[in-house]
Amino acid sequence: MFANLSDRLTASFKQLRGKGRLSEADIDATVSEIRRALLEADVALPVVREFAANVRERAKGAEVSQALNPGQQVVKIVNAELVEILGGESRDLNFAKHPPTVIMLAGLQGSGKTTLAGKLGLWLKDQGHTPLLVAADLQRPGAVDQLQIVGERAGVPVWAPEPGSGVGDPITVARSGVQQAHDKQHSVVIVDTAGRLGVDAEMMQQAVDVRDATDPDEILFVLDAMIGQDAVTTAQSFADGVGFSGVVLSKLDGDARGGAALSVRGVTGKPVLFASVGEKLTDFERFHPDRMASRILD
Ligand code: GDP
Repeated sequence: MFANLSDRLTASFKQLRGKGRLSEADIDATVSEIRRALLEADVALPVVREFAANVRERAKGAEVSQALNPGQQVVKIVNAELVEILGGESRDLNFAKHPPTVIMLAGLQGSGKTTLAGKLGLWLKDQGHTPLLVAADLQRPGAVDQLQIVGERAGVPVWAPEPGSGVGDPITVARSGVQQAHDKQHSVVIVDTAGRLGVDAEMMQQAVDVRDATDPDEILFVLDAMIGQDAVTTAQSFADGVGFSGVVLSKLDGDARGGAALSVRGVTGKPVLFASVGEKLTDFERFHPDRMASRILD
């Protein structure tokens, strides 16, 4: 991911090599190049516009520097702007004052929610938490079994309806799962919810009902970074329909153009907390805007 964007940005900086100072024409030409590179990477238009305007403004206001040549100055400005659109500081999970902390996962089917439940469970367990996973995705055939498998692999218990118990209602499962976490003193409960292939009213309503039944401390919207430009409209629909407090970018190991990752913060105003970078349970990390920016400009 980002290979193309990195190449394009690096090429635009190279044009400034050997210049004594940054002229207005240099700045305009470089900003146009950056704009094109971002659009080509599928970054959302409003985000591109703001990015370009900010880079232009900072470059024009930049002092003549003894230490940095114009190319280096622009790299520094673009780096700072990338950190900014990626969310500035990284943010930790919000833990409840009185456990259990309830974390609800939302997102389209296939976005990586069930996998994430296992990854996050393992990650939390390694930090001394005692998580419980709740299988409230009763829509997708096999989702309950899949959660049980990832739970087993992660060594994290799973709350699921008894096979044949007739409980077909995700709200009941979610509510009883949170109750179970209270009763058994789990410090965190992670609620996996159903997603459809596309956004629809029924799915949104179910997510709202699960939200209202569990009163989550965090709602994490799981966004498949591979879905390109659709990512922005999907994120917007979830922000409007259910609301969320943070984002997890999944499949960042793929070869998509990276626009989703760069747009989601600007479009929804919500921070990216984690990145999922593969199919294994350990392919998971905190999201650090500064590290991501450096990776893009490397
Ligand atoms: P859900 O429908 O939202 O619960 O999605 P799943 O957790 O079942 O994930 C859908 C598919 O994406 C599965 O084949 C996962 O193995 C795969 N997947 C999930 N996260 C990642 C990731 O970060 N990278 C890659 N390459 N694949 C992933």
